[in-house]
Amino acid sequence: MASFSTIPELDVELLKKYDRAGPRYTSYPTAPAFHEGFQSEDFRQALTGNKPLPFGGTNRNLSLYFHIPFCDTLCYFCGCNMIVSNNRSRINHYLQYLIREIGLNRSHIADNRKLEQLHWGGGTPTHLNPEEIRTLGKAIASNYDFADDFEASCEIDPRELTREHLEALHESGFNRISLGLQDLNPQVQKAVNRIQSLELTAGIVKQARELGFKSINIDLIYGLPRQTPGSFAATLEQVLEMDPDRIALFNFAYLPKMFKHHKVIISEEMPGPADKLEILVRSVQRICTRGYRFIGMDHFAKEGDELALAQDRGDLYRNFQGYSTRKGLDVVAHGITGISQVGRTYSQNLKTEKEYFEALDAGRLPTLKGYELTEDDLIRRHVITEIMCHFHLEFRKFEELTGHRFKDYFAPELASSGPDSLASMEKDGLVRRNPESLEILPMGRFLIRNIAMCFDAHLKRSVGAAGYSRTI
Ligand code: SF4
Repeated sequence: MASFSTIPELDVELLKKYDRAGPRYTSYPTAPAFHEGFQSEDFRQALTGNKPLPFGGTNRNLSLYFHIPFCDTLCYFCGCNMIVSNNRSRINHYLQYLIREIGLNRSHIADNRKLEQLHWGGGTPTHLNPEEIRTLGKAIASNYDFADDFEASCEIDPRELTREHLEALHESGFNRISLGLQDLNPQVQKAVNRIQSLELTAGIVKQARELGFKSINIDLIYGLPRQTPGSFAATLEQVLEMDPDRIALFNFAYLPKMFKHHKVIISEEMPGPADKLEILVRSVQRICTRGYRFIGMDHFAKEGDELALAQDRGDLYRNFQGYSTRKGLDVVAHGITGISQVGRTYSQNLKTEKEYFEALDAGRLPTLKGYELTEDDLIRRHVITEIMCHFHLEFRKFEELTGHRFKDYFAPELASSGPDSLASMEKDGLVRRNPESLEILPMGRFLIRNIAMCFDAHLKRSVGAAGYSRTI
């Protein structure tokens, strides 16, 4: 594994050259390809196993996702599907429908399929109170058998968390938590309407360790208003002192056309491209000198953490929750806007509470739209996943899986000589074409989305409308 404490120089010009809008590839094809021709019945068939599986595979165990959209207050940088609400009866009503959806999904899934992974995201899942957390946990446990190596993670907002929330999560089987932090500088926190002290966050980390949570992740965002390379370096040192098992360092996706509240951010206060690049590269170098591995695009894990071990085993995968340790699981999403990945399909749930409740009242899976992958999509998804998760692609394995020679199948992509082509990236030292493999070089890891874009057959159709964020 290449060390990132040894990146020779910050090649700002090279990174700027490739800085453009592009997908984050939590799916391939990405969500703009989903269409409303894919409906509840299509998703039902995927759940029952009546749709063909990718590359003739067999049904594996399950990963369940629960979307809890409610938040206490609005963070101005937010890009999630969330609802600011403290109306407890509204939140409890939504919870009752999540429980109904568990039962409906379960009725279509074969009994012998075990639950291997669970993730609650949002919004703020811990906007549920401890009793509601236990209620949802019990509903899941009474519908599914857990696999022996079951892992469960929950996104946490430390600002409204009590020890009772953590105890309820732990009792419900959660062994991993992910804390939103973003930046510790008071000026930055004020500019994004998220005031959260170091003491508060460090206290939650301590309590989680006392209760026995196995893995703690801290989320950071660079590119926020009033951030400077110096201020972010100070935040990072404080985060490293808390010694989390994983760190996620996200690029702020500033999309004022898509999220009206982004307009509240004073764009002149945001760091410019050179400062952003400096924050990114210096942060990667610093984190890696403290015993973390740069897992991929935006994640770091300690060498012994499950994410690093999964990368070593070749099991690392990328899905709607980001990097995942379990390749090949079907992801079944619950709650508004949740996206499932089952067999060779993607399926997104309805976006409003009203529509979602109505579908479940009618006993119908609450599908808004979806997509069934073609053979070509499956082949390209395999290549993009290998690049994003493992930074190399072995041609022999590709041929064994797909029945195609890589050089023949991707002859047009390999022959292209445009500014965003593989040939151009090879000349710039981002990738190397070996006789038996395609290899991503250390600087190429910063531009991994751009490299993946070379294999994306849907991109030309979707890039204009999708509102993708910048790749740097
Ligand atoms: S807590 Fe998370 S989901 Fe809620 S507004 Fe803030 S960033 Fe968005």
